[in-house]
Amino acid sequence: MLNRMIKDGDIFIVFDLEWNQPLPGKEYGFDVSKLSGEIIEIGAVKMEYLGGTLIPRGVFSSDIKPVCYKTIHYHVKKVTHKTNADLAKGEPFEQAYSKFMEFCGQDAILAGWSNSDTDMLKTNLKFFDMDDRLGMYFLDVQPMFSVFSTEKGRQRSVEFAVEYFGIPVEESFHSATSDAKYTAKILQNIFDRNKTSEVLSVISSSAVDCDLKREYTTVGAPCDHPSQAQMLVTGFNSRCPVCGGDFEVKMKPFRIRKSSYALYSCPKDGEFFGRTRIKKNKEGKFYASSVLRFATQPDYFLVASKREEYDKYGIEGKPVVIPETAVSEELPD
Ligand SMILES: [Zn+2]
Repeated sequence: MLNRMIKDGDIFIVFDLEWNQPLPGKEYGFDVSKLSGEIIEIGAVKMEYLGGTLIPRGVFSSDIKPVCYKTIHYHVKKVTHKTNADLAKGEPFEQAYSKFMEFCGQDAILAGWSNSDTDMLKTNLKFFDMDDRLGMYFLDVQPMFSVFSTEKGRQRSVEFAVEYFGIPVEESFHSATSDAKYTAKILQNIFDRNKTSEVLSVISSSAVDCDLKREYTTVGAPCDHPSQAQMLVTGFNSRCPVCGGDFEVKMKPFRIRKSSYALYSCPKDGEFFGRTRIKKNKEGKFYASSVLRFATQPDYFLVASKREEYDKYGIEGKPVVIPETAVSEELPD
């Protein structure tokens, strides 16, 4: 949750990244899981908040020369149309990143389409032994779009949102700079088409501190019965993972099929979404896997829709119609 109100003059930096991936089967002299992608482009648009709308204040664009994944992955090539020669022409990541941070300035709110770009930025900073604290709040525009459109609770692409708002398509998608521009226009449309106070309230409740861990997980020990498995994670679900203080229960856990959902609140750190899944291991024992995360708008929608389903159909949920031809061993969550 944002620690202050949005006021005139506040800066939003809408950004997007492109990254290259390791080639399948190729040996690298390091642990590839520590660098799932290497950034090859940073694009961003600066927007100033003024009187309920966003005014564009500049564009940032940088091509980066990868040092680990120098050969373009066919999938990345297909999407970005970049070649190996293009990659070689980029500037060093360190230099591009410091220019980007300078472009952001002090106290800006970072925004982007989904969490994946901030995660990838941090992965790269960590891998290259740079300071990975961004010192900014981050606003995910993807769930914002789903809140302010008829697409509630669904994950849509930038292209979909651009078409939904009738934003003119002047540049092709999937360059970091053009996607940042489109995402900025989507955010601008959200402001212009809705009541300012409502947009600001969703922003305040959805923006997260980039440097704060968002999600906490635990896996309980295997037991003979699902109820025992559930018991073993009760402790995890009763305290705030940030400060350790007791949770106040906002919505009591309720189970629907294999998952139970709940909403908790810590007076200091805000509201948390909780989900526990009971799974079965190879030995046939049951174990619980729990997640607690800072609740965002899509989490509230998820809990509300599951609760509605639970109230109507109970623990088994809405009957699933499996077509006769489909063979399905797993029930949906
Ligand atoms: Zn707390």
